[in-house]
This record gives sequence, C-alpha cells and structure tokens, in this order.
Amino acid sequence: MKTILITGGTGFLGSNLCIRLINEGHKVICVDNNYTGTLDNVASIKSHPNFTFIEHDITQPLNIDASIDQIYNLACPASPVHYQHKAALATINTCVQGAINMLELAKAKGARILQTSTSEVYGEPLEHPQTESYRGNVNPIGIRACYDEGKRLAETLFFEYYRNFNLDIKVVRIFNTYGPNMNPDDGRVVSNFICQAIRGTDITMYGDGSQTRSFCYVDDLIEVIVRMMNSQSGFTGPVNIGNPVEFTIKELAEKVIAMTGTKSKLIHEPLPQDDPTQRRPDISLAKAKLGWEPKVALAEGLAKTIEYFKSVQG
Ligand code: UDP
Repeated sequence: MKTILITGGTGFLGSNLCIRLINEGHKVICVDNNYTGTLDNVASIKSHPNFTFIEHDITQPLNIDASIDQIYNLACPASPVHYQHKAALATINTCVQGAINMLELAKAKGARILQTSTSEVYGEPLEHPQTESYRGNVNPIGIRACYDEGKRLAETLFFEYYRNFNLDIKVVRIFNTYGPNMNPDDGRVVSNFICQAIRGTDITMYGDGSQTRSFCYVDDLIEVIVRMMNSQSGFTGPVNIGNPVEFTIKELAEKVIAMTGTKSKLIHEPLPQDDPTQRRPDISLAKAKLGWEPKVALAEGLAKTIEYFKSVQG
C-alpha cells in the first residue's frame, strides 16, 4: 500500500485516477480547489477510510504531515473555454507556481512525481503524427498560450528539479481524452456534442469540421498514467499518451448523431483562434517502454460516455 497524492483529484481524469487507486488498496490524498472539478465525481469513494480530500489551490504551498510515496500533478483547467480569457493568468499560475509547489513537496517528502503535460505543447503541429522529439509550433502570444506555454514551462521545471536535485520525475503528454466524469459544461468537443444531442439542441461544429483529433477513452489513459508512474527509475519521459486513431470533427459529429438518434441539427460556428488543424500521437515510445496501447475503440467509448451523460442529465 502506497500513500499517493493527486492534485486535480476531483476533476475528470483525477477522479477516475483516485477511484482506480483506492480500488487497488492505496491511501489517496485528493487535492483540488474544485474550480472545474466537483466532489460528485468522487462520491463513490468519499467515505472510504483510505480516502482524504483537501480543498486547496496548488498555487499556494501545501504542507502535509503524512509521508507521501507518489504525487500525480493533474491540477489545471484543461478545456479551452475554462483556461482562457479571464482565467488565463490563473492558468499560468497553476501551471508554473503550482508545479513549483508540488515539486518542492516531492523534494521534501522524497516522493516520485508525475506531471500530466499535454499535446498542446506541440501547438499547431507541422510534424504529423507528433513524436516526443518534435519541439512544437506554439503561438506564444495567442489565447491558448496561457495553457500551452504554462505546460511547457512546467515540463522545464520538472527537468530542472531532475537535473538539480535528482528528483524522481515522470512526464506524460496527454492527447484528447473523453469518458465518464467529464463535466457536461466542460466545453470540449465530445461532451458538447453528446450533451447537445441528448438535449436536442444544435450541435455546434466549429469551422468546417475538417480539423482532426485522436480520442482516447479514459480507462485506457488512466492505465498508462499508472504504468508510467510505476515504470523503472530513470525513465523520465516525456511520453505521448493517447489513441492514435484520427478522426475529423465532422466524422465525430456524424457518429454522435447516429449513435444517439438525435434530431439535433449540425450547425457551424466560427473556428476559435489558434485551434490546431490536426493532432495525432505517435505512441511508439509508450508501446516500447510501457507495453501499452489503447484497447477501447471510439464507438465503444462513445457508447459508454453517452450512457454516462444520459444518467447524469436525467
Ligand atoms: N469543437 C467543436 N465544437 C465544440 C467544441 C469543440 O467543433 O462544441 C472543436 C474545436 O474547435 C477543436 C476540436 O473540436 O477543433 C477539439 O476541441 P476541444 O476543445 O475538445 O479540445 P482541443 O482543441 O483542446 O483539442
């Protein structure tokens, strides 16, 4: 049994990770300020004796008495509508000061620490699919930069703590992920399309829908995050994690419409600034080093996610 601290623990990925680690018999300390997360996501484990929730914003230092074996740093709003505009400065602070505070905690506790970085570090990618050695094409002054550059600087911080203090770090770059415990108002494409289809409101396709993404079901993603955390010492990453099967956003909309049998209309809205044209992970490194590849195809994952949203939306 390990003591494991998870920042962003009431969010979409964090809550799925908390549940998985509690079920494996670990002690879990869940830290979140509930900006985009909610305690509803951890309702099934809230009273478990091995589960503790601490309401805390990681931009402030965190003091914990208990010894800690592992820290997963997931805290940060991850949907463009939640991390941009008025939230932009808080996003930068969460990525940067939040990372420093968690790295300091790991250093003080002698804990291993994993950073959830993002495919956004590649920006508008000129290399396709993206390998970890690709250095990206981020617009440093655009509206996505608060997240993209924040996450890039967090990676830099992790590697400086590794070089300066020999801290035991792990870095994964997460590509688009979906599944149960996404917030219906999250604003990202899978949750938007499904919730719009269930409610019978217009399905909002930004641009002409020719932009691509590669969608990973949450269970596959949690599996590889845990494998990475427990991988051999000295293997730092960064490692791309995601599903390498690529779809256009128009194809996704058509699938959701067909699977829900909705009468919703597909409408076009303007493409947001700096919205990447294409995205697909090269996952050769994850396959070779972690023996992992996704198992859940989009149709199967969408069916489970549609069921989930039907259950929470009544
Ligand atoms: N998108 C869309 N309709 C929506 C929400 C998003 O067409 O209601 C598009 C968005 O422009 C982008 C893609 O879907 O091209 C994925 O967007 P999301 O916000 O899910 O993730 P990210 O852009 O961070 O990959």
